[in-house]
Amino acid sequence: MIPKKNETLELEIIDLTHEGLGVAKLDRYPLFIENALPGEKVEALVMKVGKKYGFAKVLKWLEFSSDRNEAIQGELLRTGIADLGHLTYEKQLEFKRKQIQDLLKKNSHLTDIKVAEVIGMVEPVGYRNKAQIPVRKVNGQLETGFYRKHSHDLVPIEDFLIQDPVIDQIVIKCRDLFRKYGLNAYDETAKTGLIKNVIVRRGFYSHEVMVVIVTTKPKIFRIEQLIEELVAEFPEIKSVLQNIHPDNSNNILSDDFNLLFGQEYITDTLLGNQYYISAPSFYQINTEMAEVLYQEAFRLADLSKDDVVIDAYCGIGTIGLSIANQVQQVYGVESVAEAIDDAKINAKLNGIENVSYRVGRAEDIMPEWVSEGVKPSVIIVDPPRKGLAEGFIESACEVAPDKIVYISCNPATFTRDVARFAENGYKLQEVTPVDLFPQTHHVESVVLMSRVDK
Ligand code: SAH
Repeated sequence: MIPKKNETLELEIIDLTHEGLGVAKLDRYPLFIENALPGEKVEALVMKVGKKYGFAKVLKWLEFSSDRNEAIQGELLRTGIADLGHLTYEKQLEFKRKQIQDLLKKNSHLTDIKVAEVIGMVEPVGYRNKAQIPVRKVNGQLETGFYRKHSHDLVPIEDFLIQDPVIDQIVIKCRDLFRKYGLNAYDETAKTGLIKNVIVRRGFYSHEVMVVIVTTKPKIFRIEQLIEELVAEFPEIKSVLQNIHPDNSNNILSDDFNLLFGQEYITDTLLGNQYYISAPSFYQINTEMAEVLYQEAFRLADLSKDDVVIDAYCGIGTIGLSIANQVQQVYGVESVAEAIDDAKINAKLNGIENVSYRVGRAEDIMPEWVSEGVKPSVIIVDPPRKGLAEGFIESACEVAPDKIVYISCNPATFTRDVARFAENGYKLQEVTPVDLFPQTHHVESVVLMSRVDK
């Protein structure tokens, strides 16, 4: 039976989607419901009905789950900033582990793989070292906050829960200064206004701060005074950049940067090495847990002095540079040219000489290395959500390293890729999830695959 839009129903929640929405069934028709946990009974309003599933909204809870974390505010759920925050942390970790287990079970090659317990954070809040905050006008006033899920309505927010609290303070100060200096917030529909986003990065160990102000036009009236006031209150700010981005595309940053204050980068430390981080480069947003994740990856790789290691999707080089002194040679590849510039500087900064880097897509560079005779014994991959390209898997299997360590931020593409390696003679040993993104539905894990068809 398909419900009608605007109908009110009493429903029992039986499951959670991988994005943390409650699932209820009317006969066999699934309804997805925000802020509703398995075991809860709710009175819900049907908002949207499709052919195969629909969406409803809780009007009233008739029974609560004992796994509910009452402390979470509605706006953090509505915006997706903390879309699992309504679940106790212990249950979040179980949920993430089960997701990987279920995906592995669906694949005949992988049914008997053990998934370790998720390594969680001791204090699972305030961990993000980077914030990308939209700036919009709400009720006639410039506001910083976050979009309501699946919309472009900005919800004003001051406490983001999962961000470094100093970053929250700097965002508030930027908002207040934008207001004070009469700067206009961007309006997406009318395509008017100046300030689109403010991005703040703060080194976990160094405490150095970078602020990027994304604007539609080059000129920011009285920007020197604004920055003077900002830096006077937060002397940790070492870099202020402007990014000029006139069009409406989904990318937050364009290539057009303009240095407004200080230097073009900040530095931070990771597993004892120093890193130079520039604005367009990827850098793990949870430093404390990235260290745990990397150490887990290195434990699995069990490296020795003779190893030749490929660090694919290397960003600013953090993985390869952490292990360079334990191995013979490291090759890194990354598609963002600025990140490779950073990686080269980072190698120098830490006195490391046995690394070499190439800019390009991993799936294009990997075959180049193969034809040049590079013989890796270990390949470490850390791709974005879409996982590995087929061409990469093919050439990786062609060079036949003893071990492949796969770091993944998306269990769906990860299980797909691991199954491909399994068809090519690589045995998946064990999966260790590490919680890089507490309070959110994102699942990070690391695995070792070793070659069995020698
Ligand atoms: N290993 C790094 C970065 C991981 S994030 C770290 O731990 O910090 C994934 C990286 O892959 C990003 O830096 C992104 O720019 C890069 N990337 C995305 N697609 C790519 C491709 N096809 N080939 C190479 N690098 C790619």
